[in-house]
Amino acid sequence: MTGTPECPACARSLTALSVVRTRQRWGGGEPRPRPELWWQCARCGWVGYQRNRGESLNVMRRLEGVEGDCPFCGWDQCCVVSEPWWSANTGVMAGRPGWLSWEVCLECGTSNQRRADSRPQ
Ligand SMILES: [Zn+2]
Ligand SMILES: [Zn+2]
Repeated sequence: MTGTPECPACARSLTALSVVRTRQRWGGGEPRPRPELWWQCARCGWVGYQRNRGESLNVMRRLEGVEGDCPFCGWDQCCVVSEPWWSANTGVMAGRPGWLSWEVCLECGTSNQRRADSRPQ
């Protein structure tokens, strides 16, 4: 047992990815690693995370083009996004139901939950 999970797509051992919050939205403070464990596959480019060591892997999709550019740190093609999920109360648009997705910038560690109104085909 090495504790390193295998790539769900191609079964190669995943490589740990360090995702550190370098931005602080409120107040100061040192950069801190994000609470999730992030992994990527050197062979097929799979990227995802575990909430805790040994738990199931959650796949993230790399955003392409301008969509992948981080609005917070300005880096190119550094953002990944979760599968959208249906929420009865999105907490935005007066709490109406809708699709939400979770975006994370792998460069500055900023995460952002947002409406995902355009569903992938
Ligand atoms: Zn792979
Ligand atoms: Zn960023």
